[in-house]
Amino acid sequence: MSYKALYRTYRPNSFESVIGQQHIVKTLQNAIAQGKISHAYLFCGPRGTGKTSVAKLVAKSVNCLNPKEAPCNHCEFCETIQAGIHPDVIEIDAASNNGVDEIRELIEKVKYAPLQAKYKVYIIDEVHMLSQGAFNALLKTLEEPPSHVIFILATTEPHKVIPTIISRCQRYDFVRVNVREIQHRIEEVLKIEQISYEEEAVRLISQLADGGVRDALSILEQCIAYAQDDLRAVHVNEIYGIATTQDKLKLINAIFDSNVVTLMSEIENILQKNIDIKRLTSDLMEILK
Ligand SMILES: [Zn+2]
Repeated sequence: MSYKALYRTYRPNSFESVIGQQHIVKTLQNAIAQGKISHAYLFCGPRGTGKTSVAKLVAKSVNCLNPKEAPCNHCEFCETIQAGIHPDVIEIDAASNNGVDEIRELIEKVKYAPLQAKYKVYIIDEVHMLSQGAFNALLKTLEEPPSHVIFILATTEPHKVIPTIISRCQRYDFVRVNVREIQHRIEEVLKIEQISYEEEAVRLISQLADGGVRDALSILEQCIAYAQDDLRAVHVNEIYGIATTQDKLKLINAIFDSNVVTLMSEIENILQKNIDIKRLTSDLMEILK
């Protein structure tokens, strides 16, 4: 079997499994169930918060061969859309295809009916990277989209998307996922992967992820590669150059006691461990708050 990254393996394949974006998921699910489908959506929010995963869920929901409240995940369309190989669900990374020619070519094809599915779904990721010319070409299509087409535009930087595009879309703002929810997800994955762990290690990883579930799983993957089947806080500390709580407390105590000798030796100790000083400084400030 070929290797598949953790974040791909554990990418949400149902609305229920999307983490931390309940407000969006509920609204979309209700709208789709009532047949109120918009022809243009704009998904904004930080990286790794589920924008393209939810876009795929929308594509599956509107095209599933066993339509119910949620995509069945078993029909040919659900499977090929999830795998990214359905001919009517077109994913474009605007960061690498940002030229006016590519967008024109794409828009040229918009008018043709879907090959197999009910809707043609265009998922344009990092849409803010499109050139001005490409934006204009897209705008024309968004003004009068054919009834069989759904555009889902995703961006981490909505302020760079021209307002005329934004005003044509139904906008959804994805939020950073809170540490507790990320922690919970990491623990679920570790249990499925049958890897024992220390809670502190999971807590550290969820903090490093900065609200992104995808980043959390990538960090977890790196830590597992190092720790093998027993994940400890010390592994995360070593990989990411984080000082241990004990080291941090020693430093703070030395500062409060005005004990220069101990302070210098603690700093020496930390430097030898290749600790990320910038992170250490912000951690210390966090503790002192
Ligand atoms: Zn299906």
